[in-house]
Amino acid sequence: MRCDDMRTEVAMWRARETNRDLETTLMEVQLEVNIELAKLLSETIHPAFAGTNGVEIEEEDGHVCGICPQYMEKGEEARGMRVCGHMFHDYCIFEWVKRKPNCPLCRCPIHTNTKH
Ligand SMILES: [Zn+2]
Ligand SMILES: [Zn+2]
Repeated sequence: MRCDDMRTEVAMWRARETNRDLETTLMEVQLEVNIELAKLLSETIHPAFAGTNGVEIEEEDGHVCGICPQYMEKGEEARGMRVCGHMFHDYCIFEWVKRKPNCPLCRCPIHTNTKH
């Protein structure tokens, strides 16, 4: 069953049960789906990234990624450590922080204290 069909069916059922019109319940169901999606998306952002900044390379200055190790080229997505300032390709550091919570170069912890 397609996602849209399922939504419509839930909305129709709800409209019947609560004696409201289908338009209202459809909007309600749609909103709930969006909230669920947002939750899923926020989980895909790894908590280890809390200590990093995403940046786009604006100039080629011979900066080498500490992981692959290739030059970071103009327009590439990079990620810098807030603690030590080391920079890596976005896709390189992503794979790294999923496994290890420290900087590949200087081993300083990526996690800043995120608990307030
Ligand atoms: Zn790299
Ligand atoms: Zn470092």
